Amino acid sequence: MTNSGDPGHALLAQLAHGLVRHGEEQTRRSLGDRSAYVGMSDIGKAIECLRAAVASKVAPHPPADPVSAYRQGDTVAVEGILRRELTLHRGHWFEAGIEAAFRANRTPLLPQVEIALDDGGVPIRAHLDFVLLRGGPKPAVRVLELKSMKRIPPSLYPAYEAQLYGQIGLLAKQWNRPVFSLRDEAGGIRFSGIGFHDLVRNSLGIELPEDPHLVDLQGWVLAVSMTEAKPFGPYLPDTTMLSLCRKTAKAIWQTAAEVRSGATKLDAVAICPGFHPLCDCCPFVEDCPKFRGLCVADPALDQDLDELATLKDQRSTLNDEIDEREERIRRFCHLSGNSAQWQKTALFRFRNARMPGRKTVDPNKLRSALELHLDDPTIDAVLSASTNIGADYERLTVSPVKAPQSLSA
Ligand code: SF4
Repeated sequence: MTNSGDPGHALLAQLAHGLVRHGEEQTRRSLGDRSAYVGMSDIGKAIECLRAAVASKVAPHPPADPVSAYRQGDTVAVEGILRRELTLHRGHWFEAGIEAAFRANRTPLLPQVEIALDDGGVPIRAHLDFVLLRGGPKPAVRVLELKSMKRIPPSLYPAYEAQLYGQIGLLAKQWNRPVFSLRDEAGGIRFSGIGFHDLVRNSLGIELPEDPHLVDLQGWVLAVSMTEAKPFGPYLPDTTMLSLCRKTAKAIWQTAAEVRSGATKLDAVAICPGFHPLCDCCPFVEDCPKFRGLCVADPALDQDLDELATLKDQRSTLNDEIDEREERIRRFCHLSGNSAQWQKTALFRFRNARMPGRKTVDPNKLRSALELHLDDPTIDAVLSASTNIGADYERLTVSPVKAPQSLSA
């Protein structure tokens, strides 16, 4: 790097460059050529937006290039790449830390078990983050999918649920078939083309039944942020969900083939309608028909939109700082053993009181309760008379039209 600018930025560019390269190597080692098969995360994505899943097969993005951005003096681009790379790598770093925690507990586990099969001409692969095992008279298998998040949501996204249903469904259905493999840390094959119970016996010396129905098999999603962890589950093998995953894999594979051959245009592939969180970080947003609107060539408007984005970023950072500060003060109140009483400093008084949870009415539960006493038209009338509808309001949605700089992974 020869840019004569700020040496601090050179350091950031070097870090971003290393993360991009490391991410590429890691993806190649553990996931191989992702355009050559349909993975469970593709299926999860396609359940929300088929276009995004197909585009990742036919038009994967080239890796981000922080070095050339740095040489051009584009520090904003370097910082953008670094932000995205750190977010992507956070998941890998969590994975290593969580594996170390299970190993410290002496929990028998297999990381990154791969299931690879040809499903009627559709190559499907599932990569199981962790499989925890128990042999003996009550054999148990827990498939764990790890998701690193900035904030843990109250309920799980459908894409993650579909991914896990696909994993445990395939594990149960393919149990004895030679479709399982396991790699070592360097990416070399340790076992390949064997049944699951053989894989477990050969790698851990644990005997599992040949019949998966005799095993307590569950899937869990473990959501982890920098300060919290939350398990979602258990999910059990479900033939309807597996069949939905297989149908979705077929739709991705066939549509990708049609787009490659020119029989279908990428723009004609179904997209997720409306305001959708997937669009916020989609690498295929730049030419997505959903956002092809009226073009307004006005630099002043661009500047305002840019400033608005910066202000919203600042607000989000400020909210994070407020949450963190409040959490520290709450912890102080708990540790001081005086959490409900007022405390005083030279300038402030404060206390951390436990308040009752918010009461809300669940319309479904209310309807079920009313059904015991009233007929349907009366219930409808009661519900409609006691429902307030707020005034219409306007919601401004602003998204950058440039795709986020991304790894090809
Ligand atoms: S921008 Fe949104 S609608 Fe368009 S492909 Fe991406 S996720 Fe789908």
